[in-house]
Amino acid sequence: MNKNLKYIYFDHSATTPVLPEVVKEINDCFTTYYGNASEPHSPGQKAKEILEHSREVIGKSLGAKPKEIVFTGSGTESDNLAIIGVAEAYEKKGNHVITSEIEHPAVHMPLRKLVRRGFNVTYIPVDKFGMVDPWDVKKSITNKTILVTIMHANNIVGTIQPIDEIGKILKEHNIIFHTDAVQTFSNIKTDVNKLNVDLLSLSGHKIYGPKGVGALYIRKGTRIMPQILGGGHERGIRSGTENIPGIAGLAKAAELGQKNLPDKILKVTKMRDYLINSLLNKIDEVKFNGHPTERLSGNCNFSFKYIEGESIVLKLDIAGIAASSGSACSSSSLKPSHTLVAMGLSNQEAYGSLRITLGVENTKEEIDYFLEVIPEIISDLRKISPLYKK
Ligand code: PLP
Repeated sequence: MNKNLKYIYFDHSATTPVLPEVVKEINDCFTTYYGNASEPHSPGQKAKEILEHSREVIGKSLGAKPKEIVFTGSGTESDNLAIIGVAEAYEKKGNHVITSEIEHPAVHMPLRKLVRRGFNVTYIPVDKFGMVDPWDVKKSITNKTILVTIMHANNIVGTIQPIDEIGKILKEHNIIFHTDAVQTFSNIKTDVNKLNVDLLSLSGHKIYGPKGVGALYIRKGTRIMPQILGGGHERGIRSGTENIPGIAGLAKAAELGQKNLPDKILKVTKMRDYLINSLLNKIDEVKFNGHPTERLSGNCNFSFKYIEGESIVLKLDIAGIAASSGSACSSSSLKPSHTLVAMGLSNQEAYGSLRITLGVENTKEEIDYFLEVIPEIISDLRKISPLYKK
C-alpha cells in the first residue's frame, strides 16, 4: 500500500463516491422529510414538494419538461421499462428492434426476453474503436421497426456514439429512439433535443449520487406500457411509494454535476491523456482500447499481452488502487467482455484488459503513483505467465 496517499479510487464507471452535500440531502429526507408523497397531510406534501423539485432539476439538466421524467429504482430498471414498455405499447405496429452489439446487459437481457416473445432484434456491429455507424442503423430499418436502442457511451471503453446523427435518421422514419445514458449523464452534455432521442435512461450512483435510484426520460407523446403495477405512482408508469431520499440525492448530484461541467471535463481529460500516454511509453506489448478522442473523459482501457486483467486488478488492490477488468456487472462471469470481442479483440486480448476510470477528485499525484507501481505488476505477472516467452 502506498505510504503517502490514501487508497486510490480509479473505478468511477462502476460507481462513484457519494458527495457530502448529497449525503446531507438524503439524511434530511430520512430524518426530517420522511412523509409519503401520496398523502395530503403536511409531511406528505413536503415529500411531494421534494419529489417535484427533483423532477424539475432532472428535467432541466436534460433539456426536458419535468413531466417527461419518471423516477425508477436503477439504470437497469429504466432500460427495462423503456424497451419492454415501448415494445408492448407498439406491438401492433411492428415487432422489430435495433440495437448495438456492445450494449449493457440491462439492454441486452430485456431484448432477449422480447425475442422469446416473437420479436426480431438486429444487433449492429461496431468498428475497432467501438463505434456504431449510423448508416448501418439506417440500413437495418424495416417497416416492422418500432424501436432503436443504442447506448450514449460504452461502459467498458467509453466510446461516445453518434446519437444525434442516428436520432435524425430515426426521426425521418418516425421510429422511437432510446439511449442508455447511464455513463454520460452529468459527465458530458446530455440534452434530449440535441441528441434527438425519445427515451433516455440515467442512474444515480454513476454521478456521485446514491445507488438504487434512476430515472427515465420519456418524450411527450411516446406511449409506454408500465412494468411495475400498483398504486399508480409516477403517473401510473412506475408504481411504488417514491424513494424520496434516493430521488432527492439523485437530483442534488445532478445539480452539482452540471456546475462547471466543461472545466471538470477538461481536467479529467488531461489526467486521462497523461495516464494513457505515460503508460504506453513505460510498458511494452500493451494495446490501447477504444476511440482516441470520442471517449468519456475519465476512461482508459488497455489490453496487456500474456496476462489476465483480473490478476492486475488484484495486484493493484494490494498496492492500494481500485481498478476494473471489465464492467462491474459482468466481471463476475468468466466470459471475456462482449464489447471488446465485438471490437475485434481476440479472447486473449479481451482477458488481458484493464479499465481505469478517473473522476474529478483524482489527482496527478495518484496517477504518478499508479504509473510507478504498474510496470512491476505487469512484469511480475508476465514472469509467471506460461504464454510469456522472453
Ligand atoms: N447501463 C450502463 C451503460 C451501465 O454502465 C450500468 C451500470 O454499470 C447500467 C446500465 C445499470 O445501471 P444501475 O447500476 O443503476 O442498474
